[in-house]
Parts: sequence; structure tokens; C-alpha cells
Amino acid sequence: MAPEDNYWNRRMETLSREEISSLQLKKLRGILEICSHSPYYRRIFKEEKIDPSRIEDFDDLRRIPFTDKNILRENPSTDFLAVPREEIIRLHSTSGTTGQAIVIYYTRSDIQTWAEMIARCMYMNGVRRGDVFQNMIGYGLFTGGLGFHYGAELVGVLTIPSGAGNSRRQIQLMREHGTTVAHVIPSYALLLTEVFEEMGLDPREDTNLRILFIGAEPHSEDMRQRIEEIYGVDAYNSYGLTEMNGPGVAFECPHKQGMHLWEDHYILEVIDPQTLERVPEGEEGELVLTTLSREGMPILRYRTRDLASVIPGECPCGRKHRRISRIKGRSDDMFIIKGVNVFPLQVEEVLMKTLGVGSNYQIHLERVGVREEMKVLVEVTGELWHGNPSELRALQERIRENLRSAILLTPLVELVEAGSITKSEGKAVRVVDKRGNF
Ligand code: ADP
Ligand code: ZN
Repeated sequence: MAPEDNYWNRRMETLSREEISSLQLKKLRGILEICSHSPYYRRIFKEEKIDPSRIEDFDDLRRIPFTDKNILRENPSTDFLAVPREEIIRLHSTSGTTGQAIVIYYTRSDIQTWAEMIARCMYMNGVRRGDVFQNMIGYGLFTGGLGFHYGAELVGVLTIPSGAGNSRRQIQLMREHGTTVAHVIPSYALLLTEVFEEMGLDPREDTNLRILFIGAEPHSEDMRQRIEEIYGVDAYNSYGLTEMNGPGVAFECPHKQGMHLWEDHYILEVIDPQTLERVPEGEEGELVLTTLSREGMPILRYRTRDLASVIPGECPCGRKHRRISRIKGRSDDMFIIKGVNVFPLQVEEVLMKTLGVGSNYQIHLERVGVREEMKVLVEVTGELWHGNPSELRALQERIRENLRSAILLTPLVELVEAGSITKSEGKAVRVVDKRGNF
């Protein structure tokens, strides 16, 4: 497809860097003005003696304190409202993966802006009227379902709100309606392949799928490739978080070289989580986002805890909205074992590269006497499980060796039968920490 054919919002998607910067500055002034109607920010502006009309450039933005998860949890969510309560037409809430859930409010215009962002993401990857889109992700309070739903309807595709779980039904729906595009959590996409197998079906041969949007949880490049291979599709990484609307904040284009963050709607800063200073382009740090378009509940300098970097240089697609790398995880996903810092994604990278490894894995952290142990449970393919035990032993050894060179400690590796690790319909639970407080 010629690149000029895939703009949903040509004007915004073809802005130059200079145009993006001046638009951001203009919108920043507007959003600061809107924030002064929110009880929380009014208080902060007063305490910190910030005069929104005197914020003149991005450096001045640094004078505004960060907003973080705790702040959103500790203050009543209505304190962040910048419009009268009657203007709010919807709320969503975080999944509460790392603690008490946070509530986000949307006005009609916020919902429309969000749908437009999702429409861009889908359209740039070739979704068109006539496609059949199956939204296999949680509806309700979780933003993944309704967020994509409104974007898909805006593009004008037939949208099947199948929601999460109910695997056999998902496959039946795909086949009955000829689903071409689906939105799915990557760990679930892999688990679903086992159900295809049980039903005697091959996702490549027995569905019309050509595009998968995968996101909502960290996953490795090898995981993407595995999904693409099994389903015979292009899979695109989708990033978002409830506090910033939900999905659609950053998204891969057809080049799959990082996710474009829609900078007409957000200001991106990447900071060192320790010093809180901005890091140079290309260096990993915590993503900090400021909403530029949200009128109901604007949030300034939000510390996402998500670790990633800005990819230097221009994307071959021509869009100048900066790209972020794959998200390594949240800063709180990292665990420390025997003094070594480990991200679950490092383990996944090793596993997904290894032939014979099945669809699921889980890391268990245990305390045996005074010793800490890390045990990696790995499901293996049915063929291998029922095959020659020496091949299983060889696989176990190979995984242990590869993990040792990747994370610099040698975990216990236990191979288990496909389907024996508890399945999750939502985000996968990758780490079970049974160490307790010591
Ligand atoms: P909760 O914070 O309770 O899980 P959300 O559903 O809003 O609630 O989750 C947003 C978080 O999910 C992000 O902050 C990020 O950690 C993770 N996430 C979302 N999309 C991706 C992605 N494509 N890659 C990695 N992590 C992601
Ligand atoms: Zn691009």
C-alpha cells in the first residue's frame, strides 16, 4: 500500500516536527487553563506558585510537579474533574494490577477524540470498511474493549464485541463471520492456539484473519513473531493506559519499528526514575505523559512507571510523531532475586526463542530455608511432552543455560504439560512471589 493511502487524519499524521512542537505548546497553554478549573491542579498551582499563563516552553513544564498513581489514588477522583459533573458521560477504571483501581472520567468530546486516535491506529495498518473486527478483550470498566470498539465503528468496520475469554465461542465467531482483524492480549492469543488445536483447526487455514492488534501487557519481539507465524497475520503492538484514556496512546505502523506516540494529543517526556531528570533521546527511562486534548480529566506529567526509550531517527512511514520502543515492563514488574534485577520479559525472550516451548510460562519466587529460589515453569508442546524423555531433559538444560546467559543467574526450570499453568483471560500473571516478608 502506498504510504499516502493510510492516513485516517492526514492533517495530524503528516505534521512536521516544527508543527508538532508549536501545536503542543499552543495546546499546553489551553490545557493548563482547563486544569485551573480542577480542584486538585488549582491547589497545586497555588501551592507551587505556578501561573499557567507564564509557562512559555517545554522547559517551563518542568516547574509543574509530576502526577503519579499514588496521587490519583489518594485524592478523590472528582478532584481532577475540570468540567461540571454533568458534562461527564462515561467512566473507566484501571485493572488494578498493582493496587487500588483508579477512576478516569470522559466527556463526549474526550470519547470522540479517543475514538479518532484508535481509528488512526487501525487505518494506518490497513483496516478498512468491509473488514470484520473481533474485539476479544474485556469490555466494561477495562478500557481495552470499549476503547477499540468506538474506534472500529468510526472506521466503519463490522465490529463483533466478543469480549474476553470463552475461547471456543471466539473461534466459532471468527469462522461464522469471517473475522479479518482482531484485538487480543498477546498471552491470550497464544493460549487460544491450543483451543484451535483441540478443535482440530489451524488458525492459518481455517480463519480469514490477516491483522492482529496485540497489547495491554509487555511481550517480546519473539512472542510477536510466534503469533504472526501461527496465525499467518501481521501483529501490531498497541500501547495505552487508562490514566491516558486507554489503548491508542502509541501504536505501531506497518513498519513495526517502534510505536508512534500521538504527539498532538500527548506530551512525552522520558525521565530517569531515580533523579527524575529527563534522559537523552534513545536512553531508557520512565515515560511521563501530559494529556493535551482531554477536557474532562486532564492529567499533567503523569509518571506511567512504564520503561521504554524514544527511538531516534525518522520512521520510513513518514510520520513525525516520535516512536517509543517496546515497553520493557513497569518499574514495579522488576523483581530482585539473589541480588540480581530481573524483568519477566527477559525470561520470555529466552523462552519464545526456544523450539519446543509451548504457549505459557510462569516464574515462581520461593524461599527454601534461607535461600531464595527462582523457578520457571514452562509448558511444552504436546508432541514433546509425549515423546522421548531424553529430549525433554535436553530442552530443560538448554533453557537453563540460555537463561543463565541472559539474566546471569541459574534458575530451576520445570517443564510442565500444556494447559497446566492457570490461564488468564486478561493480562497474564507472569510472576508469583511466594517469598513473603523476611
Ligand atoms: P492497570 O494499570 O491496572 O493494569 P491498565 O489496563 O490501564 O490498568 O494498564 C495499562 C498498563 O498496561 C500500562 O501502563 C502498561 O504497563 C501495560 N501495557 C499496556 N499496553 C502495553 C504494551 N503494548 N506493551 C507493554 N505493556 C503494556
Ligand atoms: Zn511509522
